[in-house]
Amino acid sequence: MSEAPHLATRLILNGRDMAIGPGRPVNPPLVRASTILFDSVAALRDARARRGNERILTYGARGNPNAFALEDMITDLEGGYRTRLFPTGLAAIAQTLIAFLQPGDHVLIADSVYEPVRHFAREFFDRYRIDYSFFAADGEGMPDGLRPNTRLVYAESPGSLVYEVLDLPALARLAHAHGALLAVDNTWGAGVLYRPLELGADIVVSAPTKYLCGHSDVVMGAVTTSEAVWPRLNASGDAHGMTVSPDDAWLVLRGARTLAARLPVHAAGAIAVAGWLASHPAVGRVYHPALPDDPGHALWQRDFYGSNGLLSFALRDQREASAIAVIDALRLFGIGASWGGFESLVTLADMRHARSVTDWSGRSAVIRLHIGLEAVDSLIGDLEQALASLTAR
Ligand SMILES: *Cc1c(COP(=O)(O)O)cnc(C)c1O
Repeated sequence: MSEAPHLATRLILNGRDMAIGPGRPVNPPLVRASTILFDSVAALRDARARRGNERILTYGARGNPNAFALEDMITDLEGGYRTRLFPTGLAAIAQTLIAFLQPGDHVLIADSVYEPVRHFAREFFDRYRIDYSFFAADGEGMPDGLRPNTRLVYAESPGSLVYEVLDLPALARLAHAHGALLAVDNTWGAGVLYRPLELGADIVVSAPTKYLCGHSDVVMGAVTTSEAVWPRLNASGDAHGMTVSPDDAWLVLRGARTLAARLPVHAAGAIAVAGWLASHPAVGRVYHPALPDDPGHALWQRDFYGSNGLLSFALRDQREASAIAVIDALRLFGIGASWGGFESLVTLADMRHARSVTDWSGRSAVIRLHIGLEAVDSLIGDLEQALASLTAR
């Protein structure tokens, strides 16, 4: 397992060529603009004619220089053709599904997807006569899920909450042989730990909200595609008026500069905590693909460049009240949604709602941790006192 090619250098050099004179600041300046002025009608018409393919500023609803710089950074990280930014990670997912599906189509979705995707499917697909079904989070049985009208396979690897790993190259071969596209949520990999487009995917969705931003103060989504499918995504994004504010793009680009320095600290902390939890008598199961006995370990070793700060665990005592007691006893872990910032977080996952193919009844209370940049010894100390309070109850 090695680092993605020259990643650390690319994170420093990319998205900085916003010329403003003979000299220039290290960071591209923040450019706030809605209206862009032109010298003549002909000049405006010329700019509009070229903006589909070139980085030309015509109007704020079509993007801004800071968003363009961040898009180019993400395109390079993911190894794609172009990237488009969306107001949240969930909006990026929704816009991908809307762009590539139409009435009468079927989409095959991995059981391990980010749970709000299920909500989107219930809200949107029935009303628009789009069929959807799920395949097992380990990919088993996926070929049987393909239907004559399957146009898109939508996957996430490692999966949300318990990190099931999919054999993405195999999935891509099956989807393509069937004439379907493969879209993958790469939020876990952050364009750094995993490169789905290189493994055969056509579309990569991600939430820069998480590690790219890294500071828990921006929400944003991104979609990066191959050249072949870019026009569809771009046309749909234009039609829906999708862009992000220059301030948010500026913040994410700023966060991205330190990604290569932050990630190994998150990863080492999570591996240390995972190992400590695995040997704790109150813990029944630890979920982390870097653990040798994790079901996804071999695929993770084959296809990934590393791991991040996420891990989950289940207590031996499966009662939800016990998991809640442990979470409430933690002092250093903030109780809250999302992850990828500098701080440690904890949430209670209810796997019964997060999966529909795999039966999680009876082992549904899973505690998810995000390991931040604190000293790992203090985090382990906090977990130790929280688990001790459980046995004292
Ligand atoms: C958080 C997350 C998203 C959504 O991102 P938001 O910006 O919070 O909407 C999508 N996919 C995965 C895997 C996530 O963890």
